[in-house]
Amino acid sequence: MSCSLCELKTILHVYDDSDPRWIIIDCMTCLLPMAVWRGTPLHVMEVSSKDYYEMEEALKKTALDLLGTEDFYIDKVQNQIQDHLHWHARPNDWKIPKIEAPIFVSTNDKHEMCLKVFCELFEKFFKSQKLNILGYTPPSEKLSDNFVFHSMGEQQAACEWSTGLIDFFSLLKDDIFIYGTEDVAFIKHTFFNVVNDLIKMMKDDPSIGRINLVDCCEGDEGGLENSPHYKVKFVKDIKICSLYEQTPESPYKITTQFSIWNKAFFLKYLKKSQTPWEFETRGSQEAASDKEYKVLMTYGKHFPVSKKEAFKAGKWENQSSWYNFLPTSLQTEIEKWNRKGKHTIEYIR
Ligand SMILES: [Zn+2]
Ligand SMILES: [Zn+2]
Repeated sequence: MSCSLCELKTILHVYDDSDPRWIIIDCMTCLLPMAVWRGTPLHVMEVSSKDYYEMEEALKKTALDLLGTEDFYIDKVQNQIQDHLHWHARPNDWKIPKIEAPIFVSTNDKHEMCLKVFCELFEKFFKSQKLNILGYTPPSEKLSDNFVFHSMGEQQAACEWSTGLIDFFSLLKDDIFIYGTEDVAFIKHTFFNVVNDLIKMMKDDPSIGRINLVDCCEGDEGGLENSPHYKVKFVKDIKICSLYEQTPESPYKITTQFSIWNKAFFLKYLKKSQTPWEFETRGSQEAASDKEYKVLMTYGKHFPVSKKEAFKAGKWENQSSWYNFLPTSLQTEIEKWNRKGKHTIEYIR
């Protein structure tokens, strides 16, 4: 398997490039100084005690310069990559940034297996963020403590998909939230700081109706600027990617892809008794001439949230991108379900 610390293809910020044995850069996830071993041999955990000591001193010096205080520690616990030496300098009160808006995913009774995959990968790539699940019958197995299941009542037909959501979101106190459907699989870490910057941008500017957080051109050649599906203009670069605004000619203003939503914009186009498909197509038609709200897209080499389409009409998709992230127990369950369970369910969504 390739190692992102051996390759170091994308570097957001370099603090110290002066010693050939290591480089001190911003960690892409935490946006904090991180020393990465780049001596010989390269992909190792064990280095000489001299190298070990001097790399630690160099990281301490960078942290002191940056933070202006000794109130930090060198964190030698490696989470995402276990076998290539790298350490973080973290302020003593540092925590994984909490996403500053509630996160919602909607599901239905037929998608219980799909939801399991979603939850497993949410745990992996969103860490301890809280997830609100909007469904009908509560899942048969106990959910993690950071997951809350909200029942919208009895299972409804797909043509009533929107009705329960309208009832739920109309009563929500928050004006800004993240929403998506459960038929996707997360495949890389989430940039919590970037998501929070975008949430703040929406709180400051009520004319932003939605910001798309994921790759909207999955599978399309040529990227967003040449997309046959979207018409956009460049707005600005943000830390890890660029922001674009959909122009009035763009036909896909409304989608169920993971996005930060302005509640008023969401409820303006979500009409009673719609399927998700009707919400996207009719909503987009109506939103085309919307002068009140704009829709922004994130696009670039990285995305605030990285996912692949994972499930469609009862079939798994892009399994090679996400299946290996699942624990063996869930893989076994999926294999069993592939042979038996799904054939008893008719998928219409
Ligand atoms: Zn490596
Ligand atoms: Zn980090």
